[in-house]
Amino acid sequence: MIKKERALPIRLRQLMALAERIDPRWPDLSKITKDLSNQQAGYHGEQYLDAITSPFLSPHFHTFRDLKLSVFHGTETIQIDQLHLTPHFALIIEAKNITGEIEFEQKFKQMRRMKDDEVQYFTNPTLQVERQKEGLQLLFDGWGITLPIYTQVVFTSSNVYFTVTDEYEEVRDTVCKSDQITSRIRRMLLQNKETVLTKRQLTSLCSKLLSLNVQDEWRSVVSRYGLEEWSIQKGVWCVECKTFSMVRGNRSWACTRCNRWDRHAHQKALDDYFLLMSPSLTNRDARAFLGLDCNRTTHGLLKAMNLKHTGKTYNRVYLSPFHRIGGAGEG
Ligand SMILES: [Zn+2]
Repeated sequence: MIKKERALPIRLRQLMALAERIDPRWPDLSKITKDLSNQQAGYHGEQYLDAITSPFLSPHFHTFRDLKLSVFHGTETIQIDQLHLTPHFALIIEAKNITGEIEFEQKFKQMRRMKDDEVQYFTNPTLQVERQKEGLQLLFDGWGITLPIYTQVVFTSSNVYFTVTDEYEEVRDTVCKSDQITSRIRRMLLQNKETVLTKRQLTSLCSKLLSLNVQDEWRSVVSRYGLEEWSIQKGVWCVECKTFSMVRGNRSWACTRCNRWDRHAHQKALDDYFLLMSPSLTNRDARAFLGLDCNRTTHGLLKAMNLKHTGKTYNRVYLSPFHRIGGAGEG
């Protein structure tokens, strides 16, 4: 049973919006393009993991695809690619879309990758899942739940070769390629026959976890890539001719190049604003970004989007629907 479906990660959405809006004269386009393709590959890896683990879905197997939980008394957030809850155990799975020769070193728990004569160092994913387990364990302890928690790290590309020292059992037990994960889950099911949670307790646990799921914090793409103001193009995108050529006509947007009409074209532009510019927006910000003159038209468009906001009428500050924002807004 799927308890939470996977959505496009905000970081990926941000890069997709940036790839459309970045001025082609920006000197460091290749870094953005490379990050976008890495993020896309990572997302596809997660979707592949969803596909290969989907045969386990049943009324007893509750699956969360991408869960962000506020843990350690609200001081930290853990992001779990896949969480499975059964009456017998919980299983955290982290997806890794890294290719090449991967070497795990036990003493300092390091991981490095050799690829195309280049050595690169990464965070050891066994440490990542260990932290996720600690966070989840703390929640379970607080709720009096004694469900055992297992962790697995799945490398989703077949183009990967591991080197692990024999004594580094942690890695051998928790790291695998995608073609091994289903047999590992089956083994867990065979080895954990005891029913720890009743159906009712499991349902209640799922609701508790869902209620703790938090949105991403807002992170500036401008500072990450050192962008300058001119480098992000404003305006409303035409999906037909793929330019920012939409202007506001009577009750709709019209493209000055291809004459396409689109009543909702501003919605994507405002999404882009929240992804790229700021987690909050005023009427004036929206006018500048959409290229509108009229306060009232802008107010009407914003109001119809039912965004969370603070303040009254033209002084409203609208809040990003994608991000976690301190303090609850109205509406
Ligand atoms: Zn057009």
